[in-house]
Amino acid sequence: MTPPGHHSTGAGARHYAAVCEANARTLLSAVRPGDVVTLHDPQAAGLVTHLQRAGARVIWRCHVGTDARNGYTERAWAFLRPWLETADAYVFSRAQNVPGWLAGRPVAVIRPSIDPLSARNRPLAPSTASAILSRIGLRAPADRDGPAIYRRGDGSMGRIQRDPTCVCSASLPPADAPLIVQVSRWDPLKDMAGVLTSFADAGGGLDSTHLALVGPDVHGVVDDPESGRVFAECAALWHRLADRVRIRAHLACLPMADAEENAMIVNAVQRSAAVVSQKSLAEGFGLTVTEAMWKGRPVIASAGGGIRDQMEHGLHGILLDDPRDGASFAAQTSSPVADRYLANALGAGARRRVREGFLDDRQLLQQTSLYRDVARA
Ligand code: UDP
Repeated sequence: MTPPGHHSTGAGARHYAAVCEANARTLLSAVRPGDVVTLHDPQAAGLVTHLQRAGARVIWRCHVGTDARNGYTERAWAFLRPWLETADAYVFSRAQNVPGWLAGRPVAVIRPSIDPLSARNRPLAPSTASAILSRIGLRAPADRDGPAIYRRGDGSMGRIQRDPTCVCSASLPPADAPLIVQVSRWDPLKDMAGVLTSFADAGGGLDSTHLALVGPDVHGVVDDPESGRVFAECAALWHRLADRVRIRAHLACLPMADAEENAMIVNAVQRSAAVVSQKSLAEGFGLTVTEAMWKGRPVIASAGGGIRDQMEHGLHGILLDDPRDGASFAAQTSSPVADRYLANALGAGARRRVREGFLDDRQLLQQTSLYRDVARA
């Protein structure tokens, strides 16, 4: 059933309403009157009224947003607004993403954060990180490698067992070659293809480096319908590269069957990078940036969306004013590769920045305070 005031009557809107109704039936068995429930993102907006009818207070948390308002954003809000009208509170990652129609309503701005003890972010010995990279084919084995093992959340020992589901790589990066890394979903807005093209067109500054574009298995993220096409485009570009570039560029799709194993691989890949890039054409917040900054890596990232909140250019990383400017991307990426002092200074600034503002204790306190307000209202 579509909510009152909803003007969207197309098949897509009817399908959305039907899926939300089915999901609500499952969810309601776990919800009691007086509970406070947080729903995340547009996918779950249609659950608000179902949960409220069961006596729950509902917070809607929006993780997405764009820097520019245009016809698309207006249409998206026109679709979502009737579903969201009655929510008890709203949370956004950036004040800039709050739409005008929420003026006067209970809105909190809570920046995302990372868990420094999670498999994705916890400290990892260089010998383990290096072993994990050689296990998945992104590094030649080195004498100093330890075993590709890690402690799992339940205390048992895990071993990296699964191979990447897809790889484009013609050689193993030597153990001492500087690695430029971007870890992202295969989404057009992450511009993996743009990173590859900029790397291929770069002048001599990146000749000694290797590039690793790393994303999830293309069937591994259910709400990512474009991933297969985007990976195929990157693979086609890779095949067309000149030999001297192709032997230094590597694409890998990580297995997603075991979330902890996947997170450990991401941890090792980010930690082993000489430079981490996030050349997104648009970005909601950009947790991969936070993750790499926490690992003390020099990060080069587009000055858009939440990335602007995370770093100040020159202090905590390198901000790219125009993410479509591939020549500037390549030139700026080569600076921390060539200048170890700069790389160390940016990495140290990045880690400090995350410690001061983007760890989960700060987010927990903000959320607790919001839950208290919502429960009392
Ligand atoms: N990620 C992952 N495996 C991958 C690629 C990405 O676990 O193969 C994780 C990444 O470490 C980060 C998240 O997915 O925690 C992506 O969040 P981000 O905010 O950067 O972008 P989004 O994908 O939400 O647009």
